[in-house]
Amino acid sequence: MPITRASLTRRLACGLLAALAVSAPLTPALAQDKVINVYSARHYPGDEQLYAAFTQATGIRIQRVDSDDAGILARLRAEGASSPADVILLVDAARLAVAEQQGLFRPIKSAKLDAAIPPELRAAATPEGVSWTGFSTRARVIVYDPLRVKAEDVATYEQLGDPKLKGLLCTRSGSHPYNLSLFASVIERLGEAKGQQWLNGMVANMARPPKGGDTDQIRAVASGECGVALTNSYYLARLLKSDKPEDRRVVERVRVVFPNQASTGTHINIAGGAVARHARNVEGAIAFLEFLASPQAQEYFANGNNEFPAARGVRVDNPALKAMGADRFKADTLPLTVVAQNLPKVQQMLDRAGFQ
Ligand code: FE
Repeated sequence: MPITRASLTRRLACGLLAALAVSAPLTPALAQDKVINVYSARHYPGDEQLYAAFTQATGIRIQRVDSDDAGILARLRAEGASSPADVILLVDAARLAVAEQQGLFRPIKSAKLDAAIPPELRAAATPEGVSWTGFSTRARVIVYDPLRVKAEDVATYEQLGDPKLKGLLCTRSGSHPYNLSLFASVIERLGEAKGQQWLNGMVANMARPPKGGDTDQIRAVASGECGVALTNSYYLARLLKSDKPEDRRVVERVRVVFPNQASTGTHINIAGGAVARHARNVEGAIAFLEFLASPQAQEYFANGNNEFPAARGVRVDNPALKAMGADRFKADTLPLTVVAQNLPKVQQMLDRAGFQ
């Protein structure tokens, strides 16, 4: 479907703020303290208002440490049992699963989270509880150049390995969590032999060695360097909302496909959170996670930050997502725990394929 800005509001694009780790030491929160320490890998300007709304509703203050995902995990490991962290926010199930395996989360029981968030967007339930929960979702979509590629040749992820697309495919690193999770979900269905062929086929189709982020791939399709690429949906939505002429030229030049509509549905991933293993204010931490699943927070994720709500029954009213057709696509419901289990195997398969 063509992308136009005609119906779009002129909202400001949500740019990523530089992720700066706060160096001041945090003091551990106690249950009676009315404060929680949140280690966050989310860096969106609108998130500030979201946290302020939580404090207003509960009286619980938030002290935040901002870092990237790897920085947060390294800090938690270094701090060990003396970590002041109560809540951890990370992006992509691949990273949440790694943190869970490293014992950095404390499983929790929450009837509110059980009711709001579908089980495929959470860690597996154990007798101790559930360790991580998705709060917003994003689709991994295909963008293509309609002058060089036919829509029917890029209707599925599997087709990205077809020799028809030789010399046309661009991706970011295969080992980036966004790609690892997608590949793990496709390979779950294809099996290992066909999955390996698929990865080999994508490597043979590359227009250039993998590099850059998702937005770089979209721009490279628009510039003619690539014919087809993968991106998370919110990066395209950001360009759609942008008022910069160069961004408008990009979105007018490319088309988007929500892949696998006739089969498994489009791969979706999450931004999610968990209670830290050594949290002092467990009650406050759970209250915060429950707040993130509330309609107020869910609407912000969908309408303010171009993500999709993870909670059931929340309305999306975001013109950029509508322009992409994101208000009516079939999403893959493969549990993200299954995706996470496949990650080590998929990394080995990428190495065998020479997928950088
Ligand atoms: Fe991202």
